[in-house]
Amino acid sequence: MRYNEDMKLYNTLSKQKEEFYTVKPGVVQMYSCGPTVYYTAHIGNLRAYVCGDILKKTLRFNGYQIEDVMNITDVGHLVGDGDTGEDKVETTARKMGVHPLEIAKKFTDIFMHDIGLLNITPAKHIVPATHCINEMIALVKTLEQKGCTYRTSDGIYFDASTFPDYFQLSKGSLAGNIGGARVALGEKRNANDFALWKFVGPNTIQKWDSPWGIGCPGWHIECSAISMKYLPVPFDIHTGGVDHIPIHHTNEIAQTQTATGKKMCNFWFHNEFMKIDGGKMSKSLGNVYSMADIIDRGYDPMHLRLLFLQTTYRTVLNFTFPALDAARENYRNIINALRHHRTATAHTNPKILADLRQAFTDAVNNDLNTPVALAVLHQALKQPDSPDIYQLVTKVFDQVLSLSLDQAARSEPQTETIPDTIIAMAKQRLNAKQQRDWATADKLRAEIIAAGYQINDTPNGYTLTKN
Ligand code: AMP
Ligand code: ZN
Repeated sequence: MRYNEDMKLYNTLSKQKEEFYTVKPGVVQMYSCGPTVYYTAHIGNLRAYVCGDILKKTLRFNGYQIEDVMNITDVGHLVGDGDTGEDKVETTARKMGVHPLEIAKKFTDIFMHDIGLLNITPAKHIVPATHCINEMIALVKTLEQKGCTYRTSDGIYFDASTFPDYFQLSKGSLAGNIGGARVALGEKRNANDFALWKFVGPNTIQKWDSPWGIGCPGWHIECSAISMKYLPVPFDIHTGGVDHIPIHHTNEIAQTQTATGKKMCNFWFHNEFMKIDGGKMSKSLGNVYSMADIIDRGYDPMHLRLLFLQTTYRTVLNFTFPALDAARENYRNIINALRHHRTATAHTNPKILADLRQAFTDAVNNDLNTPVALAVLHQALKQPDSPDIYQLVTKVFDQVLSLSLDQAARSEPQTETIPDTIIAMAKQRLNAKQQRDWATADKLRAEIIAAGYQINDTPNGYTLTKN
């Protein structure tokens, strides 16, 4: 073990901040649960990947090389809780009359595009579950040989009672110890048992032969099999959202630890959830926003990234459009201040520069405290104008923040930006439309056009451009 006494990371397994350590000196081996590709990732999902990216960039900032893997769930994630219902990708494919892999490709492409817009560095290995079916079958066989599985009429199940430490990750957490308790047992022996392999009917398109019959893998097995294929056991860090603690990650641990006799990984990193307007995101409330929706409303992806960084990853983030407006204002202020520093000629005292650098490093190394890191950035910008501050912020701080600060500060000040008054009118018009007040909506549209802007409706809102 190689300890890094400078860096502390909260570990869901121990429920405390720990001194960070790696199995291999200088290298971090990391696994992240990737998207289920039957829909466009929403900004809550994207928060999870920005949190993982900040972790990765902080590790790089500390001199580590990163060996990382992310799965893409293109099969196995069922619609219902507790291993019931149809596969999510398959259901969407059926509705749209196309092959499931076409759905998976479409939403994987959108996901890769969106994470690129948010300056998220993709994992070195991005692995669709359907590329590792043989590895999953082999892992289920190993679990079977160890006597930890049983057969029901619809599949092969893991018997959670064979794994005494089943609650190691979830104990003490609010969502802990419930497992499949809400779900009818059916043929399952214990509430926490889960499917490793599901039999499927003739109408299912994504299916494979196996020693147990034609079917498809359960959801949890892919992350154990893919992490074991690309990383050693134990590896260093596993990431994902807090919703995965009581079931998905708990089941991954049960599988990997049973199969190998070893701890799956040393650190479990979980980001808190994002709410919208203080509540849940839901299609019925019309508040499930994608990256495209944010751009359509006239924001830059960096405004969203900055909004995410203003809260620590372990705090629930309440997304509102006024909060995003404030993040945009904050971003513009940072860029304006940087422009002044860039063209200045005076120099900053090296001791001040070193102290600022240390304060920034301490903040990110203290369990990724990005709000404090941003406060240090503002403190730096308040120094008398100097290219040294410009270099510190754009070449050092932005290694972790990844807010495209250098690029934005070098670009010409945006004369084309849409004025706040026009954006406000467009929002009022959207509100009016949602309330079916067509007269007000039409009036606002005419005013926006008269002011020299184009407004075009999209399925989730509108786009604004200057004529
Ligand atoms: P999924 O595609 O449903 O597997 O989710 C992808 C990732 O997004 C997982 O790590 C989830 O834990 C995370 N996630 C889902 N909803 C939210 C949310 N509202 N806020 C933050 N993270 C989320
Ligand atoms: Zn996973």
